[in-house]
Amino acid sequence: MKAVTILGSTGSIGCNTLDVISRHPRSFSVFALSAYSVVDKLYQQILTFRPQYAAVIDEKAAKELCHLLKTQKINTQVLVGQQGLLEVAAHQQSDIVVAAIVGAAGLNATLQAVYAGKRVLLANKESLVIGGQIFMTAVEESGAVLLPVDSEHNAALQCMQGCDDPTRDLRQVILTASGGPFYNRPYDSLHKVSPQQACNHPNWDMGMKISVDSATMMNKGLECIEARWLFDLPPPSINILIEKTSTVHAMVEYTDGSWLAHMGVSDMRVSIAQALAWPGRISSGAPPLDMTSLAEIKFSPVDDSQYPCLQLALDTLRHGRGSPIVLNAANEIAVDAFLSQKIRFTDIALIIEQTMNTFLPDQPTQMAEILAIDQEARQIAHTMLTQPRKKYF
Ligand code: NAD
Ligand code: MG
Repeated sequence: MKAVTILGSTGSIGCNTLDVISRHPRSFSVFALSAYSVVDKLYQQILTFRPQYAAVIDEKAAKELCHLLKTQKINTQVLVGQQGLLEVAAHQQSDIVVAAIVGAAGLNATLQAVYAGKRVLLANKESLVIGGQIFMTAVEESGAVLLPVDSEHNAALQCMQGCDDPTRDLRQVILTASGGPFYNRPYDSLHKVSPQQACNHPNWDMGMKISVDSATMMNKGLECIEARWLFDLPPPSINILIEKTSTVHAMVEYTDGSWLAHMGVSDMRVSIAQALAWPGRISSGAPPLDMTSLAEIKFSPVDDSQYPCLQLALDTLRHGRGSPIVLNAANEIAVDAFLSQKIRFTDIALIIEQTMNTFLPDQPTQMAEILAIDQEARQIAHTMLTQPRKKYF
């Protein structure tokens, strides 16, 4: 029986994880859940899974949750704030920590789980993007087991099983991309798209932030940075191809000319189940992939002019230093502003570019420096929201 803590349990990845766990009550128990402030959903999850702890960031949410639990005489202990989150992330009674908070806000808690030597199922790609070498050194030193839940990385890792020296034996890793909801639409026609249109992903059902990131393809850029650290490969050997059906999640080319590809339905429960059960296998609840009904699978290169955010992300692999932290912070501010309809879809790339042109910090050497760069980049990006912007058209 493995005790599982889910950081960000009310989100898309969190709910999918609980769905997989509910299918295997003899193998997994829920030790702790955490959410920002979505009390109703968290309360329902507590009723079903009866964790020992629930952590919320918000004081108001904590009071509300405590009241609900008291009326039902449920003795789940409610912890509040960042301190509560860090406590559940590192608690000695848990075996597996699922890092499913969205954005840089997940870094601290994910790292706490790493320092505590947990098996960490990483969905929160932003924490690895900004944590970089510091994050991977912590994994190495603590003996934590880091397993990617991001479908492309989970798929690529499965294609690499049995390869003891990827740097020597691999020619390249291909992360596939669907192209998002605006594939084939000229970029200069996108200034009027709504948040709802941007979040309407053709294949995947995800949280709002990653859905916008998929529409701009910033998501694929973050994933290239994530892959660079996870697989310890030089950036030129990490490449992207468009595969519109999202059936092939990743491919790996070996030096002998062999290609291995991972296929599956577009359902995050597949990679979550793989990582929960690793090195074994369990059922995920995802529908089977009917190979005979597959549409034609085709691969095509990415049209650079369509995805300026992707280019900005790939630029950070060349610039190095603190640039991925600045990229990520500016993206979070810009996506948030787009979702609250303060800026246009096409402004997202402009705000990130302007922030990156203004601020290229040195390589951070410790966590505190990462957080300081993140804060400064957020402030700069905020000021960019109100400044006049050049227009692409
Ligand atoms: P989501 O928005 O649906 O859920 C986010 C969760 O984090 C919620 O439980 C929320 O309460 C919590 N949260 C948000 N801000 C917080 C904060 N400041 N402090 C503490 N908790 C906070 O997001 P999601 O789509 O589930 O994505 C989560 C992570 O997984 C992201 O990093 C995303 O890139 C990654 N990911 C998601 C998918 C997917 O299919 N959704 C696929 C691959 C990777
Ligand atoms: Mg992905």
